Amino acid sequence: MARKKLFSVENLTLIAIGAGIAFGYFFPALSTELKAVGDIYLKLLKMLIIPLVFASIFIAIASLSGKEELKSIGVKAFLYYLSTTALAVLLGIVIFHLINPGSGEHLLQIPQNVTIEKKELSLSDFLLSFIPANIFEALSKGAILPIIFFTILFAVAALFIQQTKRTVLYNFFDSINDAMMVLARWVIALTPIGVFFLIAATVAKNGLEPIFELYSYVLTVLLALMFHALVTLPSIGYFVGRFNPYRYFLQIKEAPLIAFSTASSSATLPVSLEVAEEKGGVSKKVAGFVLPLGATINMDGTALYESIAVLFIANISGVELSLAQQITIFITVTFASIGAAGIPGAGLIMMTMVLDSVGLPVEAIALIITVDRFLDMFRTAVNNWGDLLGAKLIQKVL
Ligand code: ASP
Repeated sequence: MARKKLFSVENLTLIAIGAGIAFGYFFPALSTELKAVGDIYLKLLKMLIIPLVFASIFIAIASLSGKEELKSIGVKAFLYYLSTTALAVLLGIVIFHLINPGSGEHLLQIPQNVTIEKKELSLSDFLLSFIPANIFEALSKGAILPIIFFTILFAVAALFIQQTKRTVLYNFFDSINDAMMVLARWVIALTPIGVFFLIAATVAKNGLEPIFELYSYVLTVLLALMFHALVTLPSIGYFVGRFNPYRYFLQIKEAPLIAFSTASSSATLPVSLEVAEEKGGVSKKVAGFVLPLGATINMDGTALYESIAVLFIANISGVELSLAQQITIFITVTFASIGAAGIPGAGLIMMTMVLDSVGLPVEAIALIITVDRFLDMFRTAVNNWGDLLGAKLIQKVL
């Protein structure tokens, strides 16, 4: 038994992360060569996403006892997403001012010769992007937000059809869900191998040096992420949900570890569903609703990271931001994190919007891009932990 625990997927994954860093650092060429092994694992995870999103949301909604319960879960989930994201941005701003990284360092010239595509997001575009004109196109493209939108409507519509027909649909999607979960377990068993090669290739590509060059910025982001993950979120679990958040974390830790290794909330979704239901004691009904939605729109780590990154860029370019500008940052970062896709580097792309909102040149991103992948791993783990904590919390307060 003890031996089995020692060689659990979680422990082997932890070892794989450490070994992957060392391997990538000392054997960069070989690590790049073997990147395909990590990519196979990533593709296998991604392969599970769409059927799982569709089936899990459908059965979550179809198993609700009525419209009231749907409203209750929906309202609570949105309240949780929004309040924790706002807390994360606020924490980022406060910790930034406490540490003040980048001040006193010589001012950096914003590079003129790089072109970074600016992301513009108007409210109408944002709302329109939810609605799929063609659900099969959305499914084939893996556009998660429109798929979620359609599935919620479809599942709610199913609540209005004849009971016997609804049961047919329910059993169909429930069977798909169960089979996908079995598949997920098979893929999860490959995690240590996949993670080893993914991390090695990442270290080989980015190196570790930029981390030391931008150490004050990196440390500020890491400290704030740690605080959010270890203090803010657990406090909400403890005081509002009345459960032990740290014990729960130990039960579901495989998902944040995979989020860390893949830097993708979406790719981690199959694992999140599996661990929440099988190990964390969250019902299919709550997990199926809260986790797919959370993986797409609830990104505390990204929100926190973006607020610090924008303030840091202002600092090293010698720009003094007014209080009004900081409030603008607070608001735009919240929306940027909601709009960011659950894929590597999405947070950085959305940040162009935030920089633009306070008149900082988007090219300034070039100043921090070298450490983005490294920080992406940590912020994605926090994004994932936020979703999983939310699922347990909503389960408890329902
Ligand atoms: N990689 C993050 C995620 O998948 C998004 C980001 O770039 O911040 O959650």
